Parts: sequence; C-alpha cells; structure tokens
Amino acid sequence: SLELKNLTMAYGDIEVLRNVSLNVAPGTTTCIIGPSGSGKSTLLRGVNRLHEPKSGDVLLAGESALMVKPDILRARIGMVFQHFNLFPDHTALDNVALALWSVKGMSKTAARERARRSLAEVGLAERAEHRPRDLSGGQQQRVAIARALAMEPEVMLFDEATSALDPELVKGVLNLMAGLGRRGMTMLVVTHEMGFARKVADQVVFMDEGEVVESGTPTELFDNPQSKRLQRFLSEVL
Ligand code: ATP
Ligand code: MG
Repeated sequence: SLELKNLTMAYGDIEVLRNVSLNVAPGTTTCIIGPSGSGKSTLLRGVNRLHEPKSGDVLLAGESALMVKPDILRARIGMVFQHFNLFPDHTALDNVALALWSVKGMSKTAARERARRSLAEVGLAERAEHRPRDLSGGQQQRVAIARALAMEPEVMLFDEATSALDPELVKGVLNLMAGLGRRGMTMLVVTHEMGFARKVADQVVFMDEGEVVESGTPTELFDNPQSKRLQRFLSEVL
C-alpha cells in the first residue's frame, strides 16, 4: 500500500502542495486528475523523493519512505514519465537491464535474462536489440514500463505516460497499463485520459492549486462532482 499523510511540498518558499493525504490500497489503481500546475507531478516526485517533501510523510507498506535510501526507494517504486527518459546509446535490453545490475546487484547475465522477460511482458521481445531512436514513441514508452517492472516494484507511478505519444499509439500503452492494474499492481497514475480514469481507476483524486479537492470512485467524481472547481474542470476536458 501507499499512503500520503499531510504531504506538503515547496519549491523554495513557494508551497505548491498543501497537506495532501491519500491512500492507495494494495492492488488498486488511483488516478490523479486536475488542471495544469495543480501539483500532480510534484506529488509523484515527493513519493519517490525526486524532490524532498517539506513536511508530512509517505508510507510504503506502512514504512516511512523518508527513512529509505533514495536508491532503494526507487527500486521499490517504479516511475514512468511523459518523456521516456531512456538512455539513447543503449539497446532496449540494456535500458531495462542496467538498474538490475547497478542497483539490484544482479549479474549481467541474470539481469539480461530478467530484462528479456520484462520486454516480452510488454510485447517487445522482438525489439530487444533496438536503440530508442529506432523504436516508435509507444515502443519507447513500453521499454520504460518494462524497465520499471523488471525491478519488481511494489508500486508504479505514471506521470502522463501517454501525453507525448502520437494519438494512434496512446491506446496500446493505456491498455498495457490497464492490464498491469488487472494483474494486481498498485498504481498511482497522473493522467489527462478521462476515459482511462473512468474505466480503470478504483479511486479518482481531483487536485487543484496544490490541494485534493475531491476524491472518490469514478462514478462519484465524473457523474456527480460536488465542487464548483471539479464541475468546471470536467466541463473543460470532457
Ligand atoms: P501539468 O498538468 O502541467 O503537468 P502539474 O499538476 O503536474 O501540471 P506541477 O508540475 O506539479 O503541476 O507544478 C505545480 C506548481 O509548482 C506549478 O505552479 C509549477 O509552476 C511549480 N513548479 C514545478 N516545478 C518547479 C520547479 N522545479 N521549481 C519551481 N517551481 C516549480
Ligand atoms: Mg505534471
């Protein structure tokens, strides 16, 4: 499980996340929606400590993530970004294998074997020797997902994983993510894809100006929004 307790985050003196609390139960998917600048990416960056929280806590399986070494934490929490952040000079296989030997301490042979399985899971067994530039955007994003999955994370974070993709490639990546959810991965997903949130999320969280304004089931949020702010947001995006 993943639990945020009164998480507050700032850049310099400016607080951009205030007292955010939320609970992602094991094996469930939570989607975070909200306007640009509302603090969605900052929240994810706090969870895996790409940016240190100002106050509050993040609990991973009940243990404070703030007490775990960042390297170890990022092995336990997989993150997938909008821009795939692959190493351009490595093959797909080595992109996936790299952290397995450098962070997890596997032998190179074992790491490559595990990486091969991970690429197969995302449908890219045939592309293992390709470099990122020789893959489509959708395939590159699958490599990034395979890289995160290979670490056998307890939780997966996605930050607008499909926003940089050509429209015809979006669906394949969303289906892959939905499949992970069905197979019991615990996921926190920032997305602009309202159809995905409605269909896949167990819980939807609406953020605005650094705060959680509303959270609930997809039906509650999409069909019966309570706040003016969510009503306005939905009227703009749906
Ligand atoms: P988007 O939907 O556009 O990705 P977001 O909800 O992810 O938006 P954040 O990127 O978390 O929003 O930004 C929240 C606030 O923090 C914004 O006001 C933004 O300008 C500010 N911010 C983000 N990153 C930094 C940074 N590195 N330094 C200073 N301010 C930042
Ligand atoms: Mg963002």
